[in-house]
Amino acid sequence: MNTVKRFIWFDGKIVDVNDAKINVLSPTSQFGLNVFEGIRCYWNKQSQQLYAFRLEDHLKRLKRSQKLLQTLFVDGFGSWSSASPVNMIISPIQKAKTNPEYNKKGLNCCISSWRRISDSSLSPRIKCGANYINSRMAQLEALKNGYDTAIFLNAHETVSEGPGSCLFMVKDGVLYTPLLTDSVLESITRDTVMKISKVLGIDTIERSIDRTELYTCDEAFLCGSAMEITPIFSIDKYAVGDGAQGKITKKIHVEYLKIVTGAVPEYLEWLTPIY
Ligand code: PMP
Repeated sequence: MNTVKRFIWFDGKIVDVNDAKINVLSPTSQFGLNVFEGIRCYWNKQSQQLYAFRLEDHLKRLKRSQKLLQTLFVDGFGSWSSASPVNMIISPIQKAKTNPEYNKKGLNCCISSWRRISDSSLSPRIKCGANYINSRMAQLEALKNGYDTAIFLNAHETVSEGPGSCLFMVKDGVLYTPLLTDSVLESITRDTVMKISKVLGIDTIERSIDRTELYTCDEAFLCGSAMEITPIFSIDKYAVGDGAQGKITKKIHVEYLKIVTGAVPEYLEWLTPIY
């Protein structure tokens, strides 16, 4: 990665990323003892402004994650139960431009042989660094077997989420998504999709989803701040619908991209200007 002129906020100061040092033996480094947020910002050409999408909601979730683990991240020479020294990083990361062409792309997924972490051991509700080792196992397995990504089942063998995204399926014109108690992150994009779909006249039902419902659904997509809305073309080689982006998925995706870039006045309250 090119780190020339790359600056991050670290320990109260804006510093060159190469000067932001943490202890390699720290609990965050050794045990993934950290909580974090991935907040997406979009450039609005017309107003020459960078807008963070649903910043307040990301900060609320960060506080909930922090409440559960009682820290942001722990530096120093401690163990997994250490409470200090606490620190924080804010790091802007450039992302590829959102492109309607992205619309055409879709994912060939598998159902992971790994189960999603559960609230009885390591809660998937929060964004904790260590949770992503479970995501890693599913992603590595999917890639090894020639798939783009994986979909987890939970401890009850119903559908939960992707390694870094939430899942929706469409059946007979209705959207379905697993419950927040089905081992999923309290995703902001999931909430956004439900809210904008309602306005578009598409009903969403939150309920547990069986594996075979995915194999037989009309459309499916994964969503998240980074992934936005990405159609699923197949699951375990069963074509989803026609094996291409479905109509409802496209409708939601197009609306989502308009909203995050500030093109829909009704949703401007979700945007925070950065400059
Ligand atoms: N589930 C997991 C496991 C994730 O890592 C993410 C990405 N943060 C999501 C769902 C989607 O969450 P959000 O919409 O808040 O980005």
